[in-house]
Amino acid sequence: MATLSPRETTQHITEMWEKSIVHRLIDYIRIPAKSPQFDPDWAAHGHIDEAMALAENWCREQALAQMRVEVIRLEGRTPVLLIEIPGCGEGRVLLYGHLDKQPEMTGWDSDKGPWQPRLADDRLYGRGGADDGYALFAALAALQVLQEQRIAHSRCLILIETCEESGSYDLPHYIDALGERLGQPDLVICLDSGCGSYDRLWLTTSLRGLATGELSVELLTEGVHSGDASGIVPCSFRVIRQLLARIEDADSGRILPAGLHAEIPAQRCEQARRAGEILGERVFARFPFVPGARPNAEDPTQLILNRT
Ligand SMILES: [Zn+2]
Repeated sequence: MATLSPRETTQHITEMWEKSIVHRLIDYIRIPAKSPQFDPDWAAHGHIDEAMALAENWCREQALAQMRVEVIRLEGRTPVLLIEIPGCGEGRVLLYGHLDKQPEMTGWDSDKGPWQPRLADDRLYGRGGADDGYALFAALAALQVLQEQRIAHSRCLILIETCEESGSYDLPHYIDALGERLGQPDLVICLDSGCGSYDRLWLTTSLRGLATGELSVELLTEGVHSGDASGIVPCSFRVIRQLLARIEDADSGRILPAGLHAEIPAQRCEQARRAGEILGERVFARFPFVPGARPNAEDPTQLILNRT
């Protein structure tokens, strides 16, 4: 195949999706491959294995030079799919995705559901298609289009895990087990974020961090009758509120300890400004606010910055 222009490439990839990918994603949506946190009996239920098999079979049908496809299972852990595509360029690329899903949740339209795929208005509805079933297909399709045009690429490793929605607690074990095969990648591409719009390529440059802990307040050594103790023993809920107020200002949401603040790099502020300019109200308009609820700020740039 001759070298394609960007427009022809888009066209070609769109055809690949229509011919070979979308119907696989539809099958994938039907599988209730909930992450282990939401399905502790995942191994017995077999849904994660079914999703893995679907992905593995599709990979094996693709004609990529010297591709090696492998499902790896460490004892007692959710499986990973590893696809190795040798290349001739410098450096190593790691592409990441996951096949485990969020639980059903509620609020589905009457004609849609988590395990009931539905194509409407050029969109595919159902659990897991966008997060993160598409990742493997997108990664491999992109590499295939390069190879078809004989455009050189570096060695690529696609790693697809099945524990992400539970906090990826199995992933470090696989990273250790894979050792040198994984090596020290020069570029890591995680196809597992959002995009602002469909008319351009978006890149997530930073994500909020997360700190979790457990807070308990004890005022008595054992339970007593509420009618007896209330008004005498301080309310534990009020003590919790006071403790939380040391961390966060309840009115503004500002985090108070100086040690939890970092200066936002100028480049990030500029990126937020540009993204806010492009997206405008779309930054918040896509959230299903109840009547009367409003976003934290009206200025899209400010909202994006709050997230970094
Ligand atoms: Zn995800």
